Amino acid sequence: MGNDTLEKFRDIVNDLTTYVRNQHLLGMESLSTAETEEIGSKIETMMENISAGKRSSDVSFSLEEVGQELGDCTRCKLSGSRTNIVFGEGSPNASLVFVGEAPGREENLVGKPFVGEAGKLLTRIIQAIDLKREDVYITNVVKCRPPNNRDPQPDEIKTCLPFLIKQLQVIRPRIICALGRFAAQTLLGTTEKISSLRGNIYEFQNSKVVPTFHPASLLRNPQWKRQVWEDMQLIQRLLEE
Ligand code: SF4
Repeated sequence: MGNDTLEKFRDIVNDLTTYVRNQHLLGMESLSTAETEEIGSKIETMMENISAGKRSSDVSFSLEEVGQELGDCTRCKLSGSRTNIVFGEGSPNASLVFVGEAPGREENLVGKPFVGEAGKLLTRIIQAIDLKREDVYITNVVKCRPPNNRDPQPDEIKTCLPFLIKQLQVIRPRIICALGRFAAQTLLGTTEKISSLRGNIYEFQNSKVVPTFHPASLLRNPQWKRQVWEDMQLIQRLLEE
């Protein structure tokens, strides 16, 4: 197999793995005949795209269009208690995307991610690796604040997740920093604790995933500072590769 053919084969396997994994994340446990045919048709499209020199993840929509599709969303019960949807902000060309769990009280009020005390800490963490907030993209797994900052529930995560996936498909970051248990478990499809997940590199949609503690947990547990700093240094090394 020549290098070109091997590369195309790798692209097909990567794209197919991403597609099947996304379907699993969206709740598909087993494949029906129709779904199998859909995958077959996806493979054909991927092969056509690859022959035409494109990656299937070269999506034709923008972040603005994903936001428009989300609209004044009432797809899950979190819509009932929110003030503002917190879609995300930052560079659409970011190499590094931070994904948190859900908006908190202040984020809900202003409609922007990570603007409270945890947000200020995240800004300092970003600056510590010689970047600015404008250089990265920041969002959450769910876009509306859970009442009283409770954990997002599985049905809420499942309903909102397609929009995070689309954001990541548009941005195609080299690295995703999963902030805290929910972001890491959702992206990696695992129930492992964040303390065992952090310190390692994973993959999601051809991006490297580096989980670390959520800045809000770090405020409550300053003894985790060293681990978060190690995770940030890992991200810095990956960005320099
Ligand atoms: S959390 Fe997501 S799915 Fe639920 S209402 Fe808000 S935007 Fe819609």
